[in-house]
Amino acid sequence: MAVLTHTGYTEEDKVIIQRHYRKLLRVIKGKYTEKRMKTIRDAFELAAKAHENDRRKSGEPYITHPIEVAIIVAKEMQLDATSVVCALLHDTVEDTEITLEIIQQEFGKKVALIIDGLTKISGVVDLTSSDSMQAVNFRKILLTISDDIRVILVKLADRLHNMRTLGSMKREKKLKIASETLFLYAPLAHRLGFYNVKSELEDLALKNKEPEAYDEITQKIQETKAARTRYINEFTKPIKQSLDKAGLKYTITGRPKHIFSIWNKMKKKNVAFEEMYDLFAIRIILDTPPELEKANCWRVYSIVTDHYNPNPERLKDFISNPKANGYESLHTTVMGHKGSWVEVQIRSERMHAIAEMGIAAHWKYKENNTDSTLDIWIKRVREILQNPEESENAIEFINNFKSELFDEEIFTFSPKGDMYILPKGATALDFAFNIHSMVGYQCIGAKVNHKLKPISYELQNGDQIEIITSKKQRPNEDWLKVVKTSKAKGRIRSALKDEKRTIAQEGKEMLIRRLKAMKLSTGHENQHEITNHFGLGTALDLHYEIAKRNIDLAELKKFTIKGDRLFAPKEIEEIQTKDVIIDADVHKLMRKDADLTIMGGMQGNIDYHFAKCCNPIPGDNVFGFVSIGQGIKIHRTTCPNAVQLMSKYGYRIVKVKWTNKKEIAFLTGIKLSGIDDIGLINKITKIISSEMKINIQSLSIETNDGVFDGQINLYVDDTDELDALLKRIKAMEGILSVGRV
Ligand code: MN
Repeated sequence: MAVLTHTGYTEEDKVIIQRHYRKLLRVIKGKYTEKRMKTIRDAFELAAKAHENDRRKSGEPYITHPIEVAIIVAKEMQLDATSVVCALLHDTVEDTEITLEIIQQEFGKKVALIIDGLTKISGVVDLTSSDSMQAVNFRKILLTISDDIRVILVKLADRLHNMRTLGSMKREKKLKIASETLFLYAPLAHRLGFYNVKSELEDLALKNKEPEAYDEITQKIQETKAARTRYINEFTKPIKQSLDKAGLKYTITGRPKHIFSIWNKMKKKNVAFEEMYDLFAIRIILDTPPELEKANCWRVYSIVTDHYNPNPERLKDFISNPKANGYESLHTTVMGHKGSWVEVQIRSERMHAIAEMGIAAHWKYKENNTDSTLDIWIKRVREILQNPEESENAIEFINNFKSELFDEEIFTFSPKGDMYILPKGATALDFAFNIHSMVGYQCIGAKVNHKLKPISYELQNGDQIEIITSKKQRPNEDWLKVVKTSKAKGRIRSALKDEKRTIAQEGKEMLIRRLKAMKLSTGHENQHEITNHFGLGTALDLHYEIAKRNIDLAELKKFTIKGDRLFAPKEIEEIQTKDVIIDADVHKLMRKDADLTIMGGMQGNIDYHFAKCCNPIPGDNVFGFVSIGQGIKIHRTTCPNAVQLMSKYGYRIVKVKWTNKKEIAFLTGIKLSGIDDIGLINKITKIISSEMKINIQSLSIETNDGVFDGQINLYVDDTDELDALLKRIKAMEGILSVGRV
């Protein structure tokens, strides 16, 4: 093969690379036009040259990874030639000298756009990133859906190959990647209709997260195989005879469910493997002309139910109402022999292709499927992503997004019979907002199937809904708890904001009157000074709090007056370090009337928890934050969230202090770095556990170029104990830094 000629690979490496590359060529042979095949070869040449000095963790030349991703894209996902090209190039801009400009010159705008998307969403696997950073990254991934759906598809293939080759990674990293896969990538694959990719991602994630459970289930599936095959043969025998008689062309399979879904069910329903009746589903796939496929599927249904009694509650007709990912099939559960339920799935070959290959098959069959539910879904994704709400943080956003777009959906109808697809759990109020925001704002109830229901009524599949409105109705805070869709939430929030503005107007007038009476400027500087003093974010917040009488304007007397300017009373403390700055801010922000003392042993009936963001321990400077429904959360005053909490919700801050130490041990973490030396880590853990008798919860050490970075989570009684420990570690030879997390 005339490849790799101008590269620096060794002969040995070339052999390995060519083995992978030949596999790719076999897969794509005859699939794309000759022109496109050449582009694929060019992409390979460019990527191979660019990655010539890179290696995978396993030691193989790095280029084997993009080749394998390209194979997944072409073979398992059946995508187009452009996707294959992008798969080959997906890591070049991120990891090598190749720039987007070069990609654009060589392969055109479209490819450059996709590679740009892929580069933007890389780096998501970042062990040090916090949850909110992670959510921001997830959001980035989802945003690429609006650029070109192929960004996500190639990313899925990339993730699948990485999951298949996790072997050489550190355990911690494996866990992180596996969790992310379950959180985002598997649902995405599912949503885009790549059932096989989704199942494999889930199984691989389980294998890495819970290897024992995975092995156990695999083994049991193996052990019960013979008995299952016998049962399936017996079960399908009469069905086959009738199908033959009817002259239908079909294949019947009976495959066990994938390991993750078995595990999930065992856990959710708390049943043992042996007790699971639906370990497998019988699938009947029909070879039928398209115009007869629906009728023939129902013919098969009638044959199956001639032999076995169906459970009427478990008939699912995804042919008349396909799932949003395009899935079509007829599902029924019947009573088999030996008294166990068996699920039977009936579908045509076309439906089967869509079920296995999702979006790719969709494109193939597009001619007779113009506005697919999948297109509608992608449109919805775009809508949500393009109208982010200011008040929503990244984590909230991603959770909403997930629950809305990955959950099951229900089909509902307007009185005229128009169909509306909503996420499961959506209420009558969601339906109202889905029709029009004005209908939502004025919604007071609904007639569901001609019966009167409250706005909080949870919609069911097939419901027909007529919204009842009143001109007097106005949105309120509680509505946010009633609705499920982010569209409705966004509209309600913006309406509430308008209302806040109206209320704030009154406060603004009060403030201006007061300033004028004091012969002071009503300008922006003075208002800014007052806003800051009360720890509020904006002038709007200030005006609102004044109108609500949460702020006493009499306090302005404590301000210093110079000319027509106003200056907030200064803090006495000299501010030196960053910690102290936050500390001082916190004290300033604490409200005068907040003097509740809780702490130590549970005092009275006050319910409190320690905030997970900063894990306070006795001796720390702390404050309490009145949370909704979860009692009082105790934070350290140096907590990164403190300033935000105080500034946004000053009125919810209460003072707390420690009254009693050594009640329970508190979990805290220390971060340390030093010279990489096996003996050193050993010595540290010895000091912690043997000498100081402190329990270690977990320990992770990463070494890099002779230096190690580590984190130890441990249980301490109070800050005194922690300080003593930090002091001892600091004094050790080879330690570069140590401190609390
Ligand atoms: Mn990659």
